[in-house]
Amino acid sequence: MHKNFKNIDNVTYGRGAFSQLAETVELVRKENKNYFVYVVDNYFKGKELANKLQNKKEDLIYFIDVDPHEPTTEQIDALRDEIISKKGLPSGVIGIGGGSIMDIAKALSLMLTNEGSSTLYQGLNLIKKPGVYHLGIPTISGTGAEVSMTAVLTGPEKKLGLKCDSTVFNQVILDPELISTVPLDWWFYTGMDTYIHCIESESGIRNNAFSLAYGEQSLKLCREIYLGEKAGQTNENNDKLMVASLMGGLSLTYSEVGVCHAVSYGLSKILGTRHCYANCIIFQHLEDIYPKGVSEFKQMIQKHKIELPQNLSKDWDDKTLTAMATVSFNLPFMWNHAFGDNYKEIATMDYIINLFRRL
Ligand code: NAD
Ligand code: ZN
Repeated sequence: MHKNFKNIDNVTYGRGAFSQLAETVELVRKENKNYFVYVVDNYFKGKELANKLQNKKEDLIYFIDVDPHEPTTEQIDALRDEIISKKGLPSGVIGIGGGSIMDIAKALSLMLTNEGSSTLYQGLNLIKKPGVYHLGIPTISGTGAEVSMTAVLTGPEKKLGLKCDSTVFNQVILDPELISTVPLDWWFYTGMDTYIHCIESESGIRNNAFSLAYGEQSLKLCREIYLGEKAGQTNENNDKLMVASLMGGLSLTYSEVGVCHAVSYGLSKILGTRHCYANCIIFQHLEDIYPKGVSEFKQMIQKHKIELPQNLSKDWDDKTLTAMATVSFNLPFMWNHAFGDNYKEIATMDYIINLFRRL
């Protein structure tokens, strides 16, 4: 079966594009004659951006701290209930922040129109009604959450996205000025998520001309940003990083991610390690699987003087290792893509546990 991917309806790109937010949502406001909900990364509370939200007095603004944990089903359900009881159904949701806020905005949009807990909708095509209009404005680039058709939520039983066509944003505003304040280490980890998306997307049986075209262009940009003569956190490179993130997301959507992401989900689910950071911790040890990619990744680490933790696994007992490996084992699409049709003979529980022992 070929993928039939829903893309973002509209994309605005360019320095200062954020200032077009009000005019961008004007039509939607007129159609519904209703208010908007803003979900904004708490980092921006009290900062310049918070004074430029272009909101109307009837709008609700939530500043959300994404650091204690990644978005949860409980958090989305509670936010939805509060919004509906306060003001009824909004015209739309505007998310301003990193991957966590992108996922919160997407999930909230869907849960405003779908009854019950968001745990009921974790999985593919379980959403019954399209959500309200939703607009994403990324402030940190790399995960591709701005373009993906999933809103990843951690629930009591599983960490799994609400995944369907309606999850995809109606509108995205890409303003590279917004990512200029990202700390160097996060600029590196999140950018490397894009790099790893592209390496994994191209290194497997599901790649195709479509995924390769996006992936190759994104890799070219990543190389300029992190290894080129003008490498570093500059305005010019931030312009490129926003595009690389979007294209990396499109590349993996039309192909698949691989071993690093499969292991990363295990690490994140059991130990709560953040997605992009977890990928960096893992990818450095996958030289036998992605030789060229890992060697280049190590050059980037050196260039930007990034220190990744070593020997983490010495503190993990068998129970922890088995729990992490079980999460990874249950991602057959990724192993299949990476190792081909006989993947079950390679990606056994023992093999995966040994991958965790490398960390
Ligand atoms: P994040 O949203 O978790 O934010 C990381 C940190 O950066 C936070 O402390 C945040 O406050 C801060 N930050 C954000 N913008 C900033 C700015 N401009 N200046 C300074 N600090 C800023 O980061 P992320 O890595 O983009 O997102 C990770 C999340 O994305 C995870 O929850 C993961 O599950 C999810 N994810 C989703 C998808 C998807 O397709 N939906 C894909 C991969 C990961
Ligand atoms: Zn990723």
